[in-house]
Amino acid sequence: MITAVLPTYQRADLSFERGEGAWLIDASGRRYLDFAAGIAVTALGHAHPHLVAALREQAGKVWHTSNLFRIPGQERLAERLVAATFADTVFFGNSGAEALECAIKMARKYHSATGNPERWRVITFEGAFHGRTLATIAAGGQAKHLEGFGPPVPGFDQVAFGDHDAMKAAIGPETAAILVEPVQGEGGIRPVPPQCLRGLRELCDAAGILLIFDEVQCGMGRTGKLFAHEWAGVAPDIMAVAKALGGGFPVGACLATERAAVGMVAGSHGSTYGGNPLAMAVGNAVLDVMLADGFLDHVNAMSNRLRQGLEGLVDSHPEVIEGVRGQGLMLGLKVRPANRDVMAAFRDQGLLSVAGGDNVVRLLPPLIIGEAEISAALGLIDQACRALAPTAAA
Ligand SMILES: *Cc1c(COP(=O)(O)O)cnc(C)c1O
Repeated sequence: MITAVLPTYQRADLSFERGEGAWLIDASGRRYLDFAAGIAVTALGHAHPHLVAALREQAGKVWHTSNLFRIPGQERLAERLVAATFADTVFFGNSGAEALECAIKMARKYHSATGNPERWRVITFEGAFHGRTLATIAAGGQAKHLEGFGPPVPGFDQVAFGDHDAMKAAIGPETAAILVEPVQGEGGIRPVPPQCLRGLRELCDAAGILLIFDEVQCGMGRTGKLFAHEWAGVAPDIMAVAKALGGGFPVGACLATERAAVGMVAGSHGSTYGGNPLAMAVGNAVLDVMLADGFLDHVNAMSNRLRQGLEGLVDSHPEVIEGVRGQGLMLGLKVRPANRDVMAAFRDQGLLSVAGGDNVVRLLPPLIIGEAEISAALGLIDQACRALAPTAAA
């Protein structure tokens, strides 16, 4: 008999009663170090006092009015995102996939509004993940996500990861945009090299097409910059953001330059819930913390510690861990046993992680993680590796 909840997820048999910072606590009182962070969502940890206070305060005032009216919190969050990025304007939705839908529609509309309606196709990299709507599974191009759902939404082309020549060759008279994650998340923590991101910018400028970055996972401080593309010194025309923007409250945003947004006028796009007062109160509270002096320095300092420790574990457990990849606190362990077995061993020790493509275990701790918690996590990973390869541990 089918479960009451549609069985579309491979869930671990665990549930949690409460969270405190980097920790999740189950009903029996067992504490887990949360290096899953709700898939890079709870970047400020669980029950962050500033976020709790912001949500509580807004909950007693007004939850929802729809976009038929002005929403002051939305205007404030948009202005702050504009001030902090390349963007001039922001559309709010409720999820990453919706942010991508807006980005894709905007890119098509840009060309239609500037006299090139024949430009509507979008090129992506193999291994991409952009969400689970019909358009975003077509953009991601992964057979396992497309299988059985009929003909994929047309208008998406895909080239090998990081292949500049293939990307150049794929740009044709119908191309509207290139869409990439600066660091692939679901694909297994694969950073696009900075020179490759710069190359994409050049290709777009030469062809008169738009560059879209999907920073749903790698954005919001995760890599040690507010947005991952800042490391490469290139800016996109359009960017999708979500996950950590709400710290656990569902929210997504599509950021764009004024030029790229030229076709988006009253009636072009919309969302009933998008940018509602509750989501905006939390989003603004997240920015209060992330934009404060020293926040990103902390991420980079913790990243160095974690990474160094993990490299040490590669040396002591080469039979389990092949290598470490990623940037900031978006790290991946390329492992030799099946990644799900490694994650189960981590869980047995009390450490939560996330699976990724290419047999990678993703480590996505909250960005507020401290030194003691990183040391604890490294100890748990060491123990798990010993349990996985008892003979090699001597
Ligand atoms: C999670 C994710 C999405 C989809 O976000 P949802 O909120 O699940 O719709 C899109 N792109 C990237 C890079 C993601 O990591």
